[in-house]
Amino acid sequence: MIISNSILYYAFQKDKQNVKLAYYDPLTDLPNSHYLHEYVEKISRDTEKHQRALVLVNCSKLEAMNSTYGLSIGNQIIHYVASKLRHIISSEDMVFRFQQDSFVLIIDQYRSVDDLKAMSHRLIDLLNDSTDPQNTFGSIYPQIGIVELNSNFLDADELLQKASLAISANVLNQRDNIHVYHQELQHWMARQEAIESAIKLTLANQQSSVYLVYQPKLDIKSNTIHGFEALARLSTETLGHVSPIEFIALAEKKFLIFDLGNYILLKACQFAKTLEMKGHGHLSVAINISLLQLLRNEFVDCVQQILSETQVNPKQLQFEITESAFVDNFDTVNAKLKEIQQLGISISLDDFGTGYSSFSRLQKLLISEVKIDKTFVDPINVMHDRDLITPEIIAMAQKLGLVVVAEGVEHEAQKEFLTKNNCDIIQGFVYSTPLSEIESIAFVLNNETTQILTSNK
Ligand code: C2E
Ligand code: MG
Ligand code: MG
Repeated sequence: MIISNSILYYAFQKDKQNVKLAYYDPLTDLPNSHYLHEYVEKISRDTEKHQRALVLVNCSKLEAMNSTYGLSIGNQIIHYVASKLRHIISSEDMVFRFQQDSFVLIIDQYRSVDDLKAMSHRLIDLLNDSTDPQNTFGSIYPQIGIVELNSNFLDADELLQKASLAISANVLNQRDNIHVYHQELQHWMARQEAIESAIKLTLANQQSSVYLVYQPKLDIKSNTIHGFEALARLSTETLGHVSPIEFIALAEKKFLIFDLGNYILLKACQFAKTLEMKGHGHLSVAINISLLQLLRNEFVDCVQQILSETQVNPKQLQFEITESAFVDNFDTVNAKLKEIQQLGISISLDDFGTGYSSFSRLQKLLISEVKIDKTFVDPINVMHDRDLITPEIIAMAQKLGLVVVAEGVEHEAQKEFLTKNNCDIIQGFVYSTPLSEIESIAFVLNNETTQILTSNK
């Protein structure tokens, strides 16, 4: 009798242990993803009308902390995060350690989605204020996805997929780190996938959804065409025209920017070569280069390879780098620019005035041109001349020996103002919209004919 009782007790203990192993995370003692799946299934059958939500807390920085400080410190931080999560929820709610660096909260009973957002903000503040008691390891910066459970949800996977989708949309827009799932995100996701596929098919030479157009730039002093800026376009039957702002950002996020950038560079170099072969080798072709593309180790080698493949004269080329690229990477970016300049390619600072370049910093940059952003052109003839800082920007940049281009010039009056204030080059609809390659060549020929006719008068 005694023997069989102890066997039963042993079996009971063993079972408890097994249950613990199967359903709890050994590090934090929080219920794990198995538990989450079963719990969600249970509440989905719950007939009581509760307003419930799933909150996914992604702490992707935890992994980096693990590799920086070692596993034992990493574990300490995870403990700390778990304790804060326990602290923030009420007794009816549940917290799960869902994966290595993500947690899930199931919130039971709340009034509105604003309550969930407020709770998420409190959580972020808690985690960002002091990741560990001594705050030695910096902040966690979690990303939070919220899904409200309605009456016809299916299972935990579906809810988690929605919460992750909310987070990825959030990360791409970089607006906030709390994002609530809504139906339109499914459409957004489908659109992202269609754009990604169009880029991939273009790169595999199975489609030509991505192509280049070229916008002429006018040399104000000689009143002749100075050159072109290559602008990428993406267009498919189902998507229509997609802005480069959207698809370049997506290509960056999906790590396609390097191959896409090379593709764009190749096409632009081929265009520059065509111009040269038609006797217009003096016309420059500017190409926009994304920061991620520029910072890649192989970038300069790839440029060199494309130069030799296309046999283009590097002096005809110009790379446009946005001012924002320098904010956090000044020395690294400048070092890269030096290598590019050594190839014979000049550098232009795009969207100038929108970043935070001081003139002293500008002096150290290895650039030969600035492109004054459209936001400094738009107020011309809207604001009083005396309130405009555009003339001062032109004068100061020229004092540093830089060529000044004004972008987004739409009206004759703006062109006149810029001419009066000594701007070197203008680009904008007042001169020409971006053109296809064939139209660009025709534009050059037309420009030359007009030139000959005026000089013969
Ligand atoms: P950006 O380099 O500053 O290009 C100027 C943008 O202003 C272009 O928009 C051009 O079409 C537009 N624009 C030119 N003149 C006017 C005007 O008079 N009025 C108005 N309203 N707009 C004018 P787009 O082509 O939509 O390009 C937007 C941005 O996308 C570009 O700004 C550039 O940052 C990026 N982008 C475009 N092509 C590429 C590319 O091949 N690679 C990379 N990395 N970025 C690109
Ligand atoms: Mg540009
Ligand atoms: Mg610009």
